[in-house]
Amino acid sequence: MKVTVGSASDIGQVREGNEDSMLVIAPLYAVADGMGGHRGGEVASHLALDTVQRLFEQQEGTLADQVVEANRAVYERSQQDRSVAGMGTTLTAVLVDGNRVHLAHVGDSRAYLFRGGELTLLTEDHTLVHRMVVEGEITEAEAETHPHRSILTRALGVDASVEVDEGDVEVAPGDRVLLCTDGLTGMVTEPQIREILSESEEPQDAVERLVKSANRAGGIDNITAVILGFEEDGDAALPHQPTVESTSPQQPPRRSDITIVGAPIPEPPPRSSASGVPRAAAPAPATPPRHRARSIGIGLGVLFGVVVVGAVGFRLYLDAQWFVGVSNGRVAIFRGIPAEVGGFELHSVVVETSIPARDAESLALYRTLPDGITADDRAGANEIVEQIRRDVAALQPTS
Ligand code: MG
Repeated sequence: MKVTVGSASDIGQVREGNEDSMLVIAPLYAVADGMGGHRGGEVASHLALDTVQRLFEQQEGTLADQVVEANRAVYERSQQDRSVAGMGTTLTAVLVDGNRVHLAHVGDSRAYLFRGGELTLLTEDHTLVHRMVVEGEITEAEAETHPHRSILTRALGVDASVEVDEGDVEVAPGDRVLLCTDGLTGMVTEPQIREILSESEEPQDAVERLVKSANRAGGIDNITAVILGFEEDGDAALPHQPTVESTSPQQPPRRSDITIVGAPIPEPPPRSSASGVPRAAAPAPATPPRHRARSIGIGLGVLFGVVVVGAVGFRLYLDAQWFVGVSNGRVAIFRGIPAEVGGFELHSVVVETSIPARDAESLALYRTLPDGITADDRAGANEIVEQIRRDVAALQPTS
């Protein structure tokens, strides 16, 4: 199979820097969307992809293993370097091996398969709103405008370990695979993406049109897209990667509970009856800029810092504060302090766990959870969460 590649990463219309990164080194392709402030986001997405590339070149482990290591690299850097503390990144990667495409994914960047004029989502968004839709708490339409739609339930670099979705797709001549960050999918609807792919002969032409469409729709986020076009080809142009076998029965111990993403995986029940076209992005002018929850603290730190001890000092102070509290009915880790001033909260959600807050609060020990349980540092907050998890599990063995 011959692979033709198109790729583009664009700053968009609003952001001051590009925190997205991409990797295009045949047969490995990936996109990453960094977060955690200007510098942090850039460092996280680059470091993650650099790590995957290095391990791939050393032929170490499967693609998913390499993503697990990328998580470790980003997490350790964020622990060591105060200027990038709390950074994280999404990562969606594919490795082409003949007519098989291996996929590894964490976060809300996406992989699509375009085949016979149909667009199929191959990945699942690791976002809070996606989980709420799956659990029937909100509808797809509500998810699109939900105030917490940017909160990730999984990202690289946030914890010492991460669960990586992985899977295989078999491709045929004529197929295309699109990798993209949410700067594209937040701005351009799936029907529009499908149309552009249908109309563009060359992958590079297609990515450029996709980026242009996202910018025309407002370009409120960085936009990154990589398209692989598969064509019949006599010679085996792609090296076989003997180290990669994601269906290996040997499961690395550090990667627990792996979700296998088969191909193709449809999105949760779309509201519209048209198959494969579940989501329509909100019209750009009416859409406020998307911000990662984590970035909220930055603006607030500056705003209130003037009043307290100077902008920088207060920001540093807030950044160094951690507590465990409740977000959307779930136990969550916050950075900042559990307070608000003049209607502005002095904290932001860093990670929302799957633990129902109700279960935790039913234990006397955690009755004050809604007020926030402060921790010395991020690790301390993690420990509190793990303790809550154990205590809740002990109370309700089935939960
Ligand atoms: Mg983004």
